[in-house]
Amino acid sequence: MNVYDSMKMQDLLSPFGYATTAEMEEADVVILNTCHIREKAAEKMYSELGRIRQLKDDRKKKNSDQMTIVVAGCVAQAEGEEIFARSPYVDIVVGPQSYHTLPELIARIVRQEKHLIELDFAFEEKFDKLPQYSSPQGASSYISVQEGCDKFCTFCVVPYTRGAEFSRPLEQVYREALHTVSNGSKEIILCGQNVNAYHGKSLEEKDCNLADLLKYIAKIPSLERLRYITSHPIDMNEELIALHGSEPKLMPFLHLPVQSGSNNILKAMNRRHDRDYYLQIIAKLRNARADIVFSSDFIVGFPGETDKDFADTLDLIKKVKFGQCYSFKYSPRPGTPAAVKKQVPEAVKDERLRILQKELQLQQLEFNQSCINQVMPVLFEKNGKLADQILGKTPYMQSVHVLSKNRSLLGQIVNVRITNASLNSLEGEIMPQSLLKYA
Ligand code: SAH
Ligand code: SF4
Repeated sequence: MNVYDSMKMQDLLSPFGYATTAEMEEADVVILNTCHIREKAAEKMYSELGRIRQLKDDRKKKNSDQMTIVVAGCVAQAEGEEIFARSPYVDIVVGPQSYHTLPELIARIVRQEKHLIELDFAFEEKFDKLPQYSSPQGASSYISVQEGCDKFCTFCVVPYTRGAEFSRPLEQVYREALHTVSNGSKEIILCGQNVNAYHGKSLEEKDCNLADLLKYIAKIPSLERLRYITSHPIDMNEELIALHGSEPKLMPFLHLPVQSGSNNILKAMNRRHDRDYYLQIIAKLRNARADIVFSSDFIVGFPGETDKDFADTLDLIKKVKFGQCYSFKYSPRPGTPAAVKKQVPEAVKDERLRILQKELQLQQLEFNQSCINQVMPVLFEKNGKLADQILGKTPYMQSVHVLSKNRSLLGQIVNVRITNASLNSLEGEIMPQSLLKYA
C-alpha cells in the first residue's frame, strides 16, 4: 500500500516540475512515507529525520533553495502535531488519506508558510483528485481498490491510522487498470488493507464485490496475471473461492493471514473466526484450484498466548503447508486493546519466533525445491544483480534468476525450466521454444 501511495505522490507532484532523485541532498522536497504497523516506527522516523535535517542545514549553509521536509503515512497520522514539537525543521505532516493536498501544501511552504498539517480521512476526495493516469510501474503494477478497516483486531493500528473502510468505484479502478496495462503491465495486483471486503459501486450504482471487480478487470485482453492482497478469511465468499477455479488469469497463490492457530488467541485477537473455519476455507480453495499455494502472516507472543496455544499454531502450519510466510513478534501498539493486557516475556516471544520461523522456512524450502525440473511461466520484471542476469516471478511469487542477454524479455512471460532452488529464490534456464516469438 505504501509503495502505491509513494508512486501516487510522485505522479501528483510531477506536473509541478518535480522529479525523483537518487541523491537525497539534491532534493528540494524530501517525503518520508511511514508505516506504523509494528514497534518503534515513530523512533525510527525521528532518527531518520535527524539525518535529513543535516542535509537541510547543509543546503542552508550553501545558500541553495530550501529543502522542504514532509512526513507522510501512518506515523504522520498517529503522531500529528507531536512531530513539529520534536522535529521543528519538518515542514509538512500529511496523513495517508489526505496526501492529494501535497502540491498545495508544498506551494504554501515555498511561499514561506510554516508547519502545515493535513490529517483528514478524505477518501473520496483523495481518489477523485489523484492523477488518473499514473506513470508506468513496470511489468507488474499495484492498484489500490480498498482502504481502511472496520474490523478492529485487538493488536492492530490500521483502523485508527487509515480510517474506516472505503472502496473505490468499479469503473474508476477499471480505468486505472486499462491505463496500467496500456503502459505495458502484464500483471495487476489489487491492494487494500482488507481487499476482499471490497464493495464498490458500478456505474449503475449496483454494489459489486471483489469477485465482480476481478471478473471485470480480467476482461482486459493483454492483461495476463491478476492477484489481490491482503485478504481476511471471513471475507472469502463462495463466489471469490469459485473464481479461483474458473478464471485462469487469477494466479494460484493467495496471501491469507491467519495470525494464530489457537482458538483462544483468535478470539482474543477479535479475528471473528476459529481455526477450523480457516482450514475449511483452505480446503475449499484447494478444491476450486488444486495447484493453489498459500502464504500467511503469524504473530507470536500475543498477550495470553500459552505453550499450548503456540503448539496449536505450529500444528495449523503443519496441516496447511505454506509456500511462504511472514511472522512477527507481537508488538504492543499504543491505543489498541491488547497493548494494555499482561504481556508475554520478550525471551519467550524470541524463542517462539525462532521455532515458528524454522518450520516456515522448512516448508518454503521444500516448496521451492519441489519446483526443480518444472517448466514455469515467469514474468520478467528487471535486471538481476549479476551481469547478464534477469529477474522474474513465477505464478507463486517466487523470484527466479535467469542468465540471458536478451533484454527484450523484460516485461514478458516466458517459460523457464527451474534448475536450482534455495530458500528465497529459484534459478532457471529459458526454454528455447518460448523465445521464438521474441526472435
Ligand atoms: N489486514 C490484514 C493485515 C494487515 S497488517 C489482515 O487482517 O490480515 C499486516 C500484518 O502485520 C498482520 O497480518 C499482522 O501479522 C502484522 N501485525 C499487525 N499488527 C501487529 C502488531 N501489533 N504486532 C505484530 N504484528 C502485527
Ligand atoms: Fe488490522 Fe487486518 Fe485486523 Fe483490519 S483486519 S484490524 S487491518 S489486522
